[in-house]
Amino acid sequence: MQGFVYDQPATRVIFGVGTLDRLAEEVQRLGAKRALVLATPEQRKDAEDASRRLGEMSAGVYAEAVMHVPIETARKAREEAQRLGADCYVAVGGGSTVGLGKAIALESGLPILAVPTTYAGSEMTPIYGITEAGVKKTGKDRKVLPKTVIYDVNLTLTLPAKIAGPSGMNAMAHLVEGLYAQDANPIISLLAVEGIRTLAVSLPVVVKEPQNLVARSGALYGAWLGGTVLGAVGMALHHKLCHTLGGSFNLPHAEVHTVILPYAVAFNQEAAAQELNRAAEALGAKSAAQGIYDLSMKIGAPVALKDIGMPLEGLDRAAQIATQNPYYNPRPVDYAGVRRLLEDAYYGKRPA
Ligand code: NAD
Repeated sequence: MQGFVYDQPATRVIFGVGTLDRLAEEVQRLGAKRALVLATPEQRKDAEDASRRLGEMSAGVYAEAVMHVPIETARKAREEAQRLGADCYVAVGGGSTVGLGKAIALESGLPILAVPTTYAGSEMTPIYGITEAGVKKTGKDRKVLPKTVIYDVNLTLTLPAKIAGPSGMNAMAHLVEGLYAQDANPIISLLAVEGIRTLAVSLPVVVKEPQNLVARSGALYGAWLGGTVLGAVGMALHHKLCHTLGGSFNLPHAEVHTVILPYAVAFNQEAAAQELNRAAEALGAKSAAQGIYDLSMKIGAPVALKDIGMPLEGLDRAAQIATQNPYYNPRPVDYAGVRRLLEDAYYGKRPA
């Protein structure tokens, strides 16, 4: 066995059906007295419910989170948190809301309690992103890693199939790239395989039977594992490409992960054969790339860049941006190879 480093920061996780009932006691456990509850405008009701549960420990609701954390939104939220004398942030929502919590915590150092309602996984990572003048800059700081995460399966029951499917594939991307990470380690790889298997079984049921608690629990469990893997080891070409496409072409985050993943995996198949064979086995497929593609089809998620807003004439520029700076990938990244990958993804051809 090869040597490795395992350096996993700890987050307290409460998982189950109805776990939001423990919100007040968990805020108290953090030693906080005035929690500001964050959400998107669409999830204001969820935030108000959380605020009610906190009673006197609620400093108020700030339901202005939007995708990719624009700096203006972060500044306003920081001002509001200060004005209300908040000593903790409760983020109820997906990656956008957790991201806003991180942007405030980065400055104040105050704790975040996350209540994730999608499968994006941000709640388990020290990674933050803030968008300024159209450019999203990401960084890592343990200050922004939520101290506590409450996974309440009930809160995911309202996640519509068209968000749930791609969001689940976003988690799948963290799990698969974690297997061939530069700093992969055996424990994280075990979590990755478990997550892939769980998502492959749960997601098709989630989109067909949105109220199925067993499938919803499986999907959320897979999402937790996905976030853990993303927070623990480095990612590679797939995440780099998605960052480029999301940032420079304004494509929707979870959908772009869904479309790119089979092609990034096919690109890396030979160079990371052993790791990707474990993924294939967990997917119950002949190859990881095909298994992922077929799962996307089965759950009705998009499989082609052309269907999620990518312009054909943007492929050259995307390949250029994604190959201009060196980064780790199992197979060396070259312009021609990435350009081909993007073209296949543009048309959504089943990977060979
Ligand atoms: P999102 O948070 O933008 O949510 C998408 C939409 O779904 C929003 O309108 C939201 O209100 C709604 N929604 C969420 N949960 C719902 C529910 N249970 N029922 C009904 N509606 C619900 O989407 P996302 O994919 O979770 O997050 C994407 C963002 O997160 C991106 O900016 C991405 O870069 C970031 N992200 C960051 C990390 C990290 O580690 N820092 C990891 C993954 C994603």
